[in-house]
Amino acid sequence: MSPQQKRAVTSLIGIIATSALIGALFNQTPLFISLTLLIYILFMLRNIFKLHDWLLEQKKDLPDALGYWGEIFNELHILERKKKKQQKLLSVALSRFKKAAEALPDGVVILSKHNFIEWVNPVASSLLGISYPQDTGQKINNLIRHPDFQRYLIKNNYSKTITFPAPDNTDNILTMQIIPFGYKQKMLFCRDITHIHKLEEMRTNFVSNVSHEMRSPLTVLSGYLEMFSDNPPKDEKNFKLAIDNMYQQAMRMQRLVTDLLALSKMETAPVEHTALVNVSTLLITLKENAKIPGQDKQHTITLKTDEKLSLRGNSDELHSLFANLINNAVRYTPDHGHITISWQILNNEAVFSVSDDGPGIASQHIPHLTERFYRADIDRSRESGGTGLGLAIVKYAVERHDGRLEIRSTLGKGSTFTCYFPSQRFLT
Ligand code: ADP
Repeated sequence: MSPQQKRAVTSLIGIIATSALIGALFNQTPLFISLTLLIYILFMLRNIFKLHDWLLEQKKDLPDALGYWGEIFNELHILERKKKKQQKLLSVALSRFKKAAEALPDGVVILSKHNFIEWVNPVASSLLGISYPQDTGQKINNLIRHPDFQRYLIKNNYSKTITFPAPDNTDNILTMQIIPFGYKQKMLFCRDITHIHKLEEMRTNFVSNVSHEMRSPLTVLSGYLEMFSDNPPKDEKNFKLAIDNMYQQAMRMQRLVTDLLALSKMETAPVEHTALVNVSTLLITLKENAKIPGQDKQHTITLKTDEKLSLRGNSDELHSLFANLINNAVRYTPDHGHITISWQILNNEAVFSVSDDGPGIASQHIPHLTERFYRADIDRSRESGGTGLGLAIVKYAVERHDGRLEIRSTLGKGSTFTCYFPSQRFLT
């Protein structure tokens, strides 16, 4: 028994003894004791009611009382103050956690014991198409219906992540992991990995494209070598034809390797563009050499250039850029066609353009032309010695010089490839 309880019992005994004594004076001891006990019970009841009222409506201040009840109320008061302090600390911690989770680049969803949504950060809202707070209390598996997710949720083994298309936009790929916490609660983390997924897809396609491009010239070369090892050549004319063909295939592989190296160099090398390149001189040389070896397509090539206009950059990359666009025009424009090359200032930008009146390109191909190995016309590209990498190199080189590439083309009429460079890149 605590000292307070001992005191309460002693004072009750004291009150009863006093009432018994007074009662004895009037010869009414039982009546006095009964009255005292009644008053005591009423006092108790009053305080029990006060306590009950306070418990029902805790916003009220704690009631005051005398004696033991006063001490009970005092203890409750201390307890209440402690609880308020803890609640305050908890709400500060909770709001800190929410702020941190809201600022996360990943999506976070908090689920209750039976997978009901409790809280969602803005990233998860947009990635998973959950409206917060409207969807609070909904079951997550009613909103994300992808079978892989449904299986993952009920599996109860969350050591691995899962990957599946975003519910609202199946072009986007999400990765997700569930982390159990508390009493059967779950924290769900998700991230948009579309970019990584595309890079991985590009890498796989790239390897298979390179292998495919290498395989055809190698098949031709090994075919001839096999044939010659079985039957040494006797007919000089046929032998010459075979050697020419082998040479062309070897050149094709060489061009492919050169283009691949150029691309890989631009991908990995830092941008070091300090040289001032005299573009006019470069274009005059390229115009002179603008021929397909062994062919004279009798093109009319016009060069309009601002001789004073130089470009700050990397001379190898710029050479590759201009050469690729001019060679494409020469390769794709039929005999007696017209090609115009120009280098000038337009609207405070240095503009390089190559126009031809060749076959043109259908509009659906244009957005893809700068992708590696993309060809609008595969036969014509291979026939003219194309690697399918020229425009990918051009795009890289232009962007490394802070410029942009524009392709305009009309089927049957011709094409214009234009590169725009900003003012900080050129000198007049
Ligand atoms: P390729 O080595 O095949 O020419 P590019 O990357 O240089 O590869 O060009 C991609 C595709 O764009 C070509 O295969 C061709 O179909 C089309 N193309 C490029 N330049 C021209 C042009 N001047 N006229 C018509 N089509 C062109």
